[in-house]
Amino acid sequence: MSNKFEFEKIVSHLQTSGYVFAGSSIYGGLSNTWDYGPLGAELKRNIKDLWWKRFVQESATNVGLDSAILMNPKVWQATGHVSTFNDPMIDCKSCKARLRADEIIKKQFPEVDVEGMSAGEMDSFISGHKLVCPVCGKSDFTPIRQFNLMFKTHIGVFEDDKNIVYLRPETAQGVFVNFKNVQRACRKKIPFGICNAGKSFRNEITPGNFIFRTREFEQLEMEFFCKPGTDLEWFEHWKKHCLSFVEELGVKEDNLRFRDHEPAELAFYSKATTDVEYDFPSLGWGEILGIADRTDYDLKRHSEFSGEDMTYLDSDDNSRYIPYVIEPSMGLDRLMLMVMVDSYDEETLENNETRIVMHLKPSIAPYKIAVLPLSKKLEDKAGEVMEMLSKRYMCIFDTTGSIGKRYRREDAIGTPYCVTIDFDTAGIGDDVDASLLNTVTIRDRDNMTQDRVPLDKLIEYFDERLNK
Ligand code: ATP
Repeated sequence: MSNKFEFEKIVSHLQTSGYVFAGSSIYGGLSNTWDYGPLGAELKRNIKDLWWKRFVQESATNVGLDSAILMNPKVWQATGHVSTFNDPMIDCKSCKARLRADEIIKKQFPEVDVEGMSAGEMDSFISGHKLVCPVCGKSDFTPIRQFNLMFKTHIGVFEDDKNIVYLRPETAQGVFVNFKNVQRACRKKIPFGICNAGKSFRNEITPGNFIFRTREFEQLEMEFFCKPGTDLEWFEHWKKHCLSFVEELGVKEDNLRFRDHEPAELAFYSKATTDVEYDFPSLGWGEILGIADRTDYDLKRHSEFSGEDMTYLDSDDNSRYIPYVIEPSMGLDRLMLMVMVDSYDEETLENNETRIVMHLKPSIAPYKIAVLPLSKKLEDKAGEVMEMLSKRYMCIFDTTGSIGKRYRREDAIGTPYCVTIDFDTAGIGDDVDASLLNTVTIRDRDNMTQDRVPLDKLIEYFDERLNK
């Protein structure tokens, strides 16, 4: 079951607590652009680092890459993005809403396979079934126009057709064009994978649902090159790996599912494709990542368009072939949205107060520890603790408000531990307990229990709990 709290409520919490801000807000904003605040930036970095660790660092076969956003426009001719990376756009004549024809059909006839329909077929379906505008309820549409999703710009000072370049709509192609470079420079033998992460841009017709669909987003992609005939085995391998990665982010299993693409839904070059979906409150199931067996399609096309030989000489049996490719492709912003929504909770305490708490997995939480001096007089001692802990962990220092209020603030942003510095810790005052000198209280976010721990054992205490 998806989170019982409304999507809008969670979104509002994320915006007021420093996770996400509306883009360019002092200028009235720019529709559907978002900036990650201090907390969002940390969460994003933590998820990306974990992906890199699981897909590059710990892999016996894979390496990383950081390719350019701007590429030779021929790349996008070879991939078909210039001619076919289109969305079927349709306008409601009555209320002027700009919509995607495939989405109108999908919403009103979920059983129909829209992926396999041409624009003409969608047009006839919409008029034949008298489908209505989701905004005003009328049934009066313009014909469908195909709208290319790539952002265009120009390189150099003259804005003419000769120097058009595109902002990349996916990070994958940076890998394909570097296949030979990486293979030769790193002496890689098939099978091996190349991972590439970074911003991608798509001029989406219907962006929305907060950071779920935006025009600028970050992708985590891998192209895994293998021998033809071994591809379906590797497909299963990376499918499992992806699911365990998503589960490791700490989301509830019931909210996740695999959705295998039906044969009719598959891209013509793909042998198998599976999406991992998350059950978002109010929105329903949404794609978080896709795993596709792309066969030798991409390397073959690049070979044709560039004239470069993309074959690989397999020294095991002296055979020469264009490798097949398995591609797990994830949206970092969607992973973040999933994790933030899944962890959000409201709990009623014994005194009937309600606390908002984000039960984020400690390893990805933005701040791991909050350092809280009980009084102004204790700020020097607390500063020393902060200095020690922040060398190892992302920490936050908070001196304002009652300790109860400060605990609530940390719960609400998902900080797993609070360290409280009191008069006993510092040995300041007349009635201090000498046995508690240089010890602190550590409070756990999830069960709200408290431990008293000596300062010289603090690092050990957190290492045991935070590195899981
Ligand atoms: P969708 O069907 O939702 O448009 P897609 O199938 O076009 O997605 P892919 O091209 O497979 O997406 O891209 C891989 C991943 O990139 C997706 O699983 C998703 O997580 C992410 N992604 C794609 N488009 C967007 C977007 N506009 N905003 C945020 N993330 C996106």
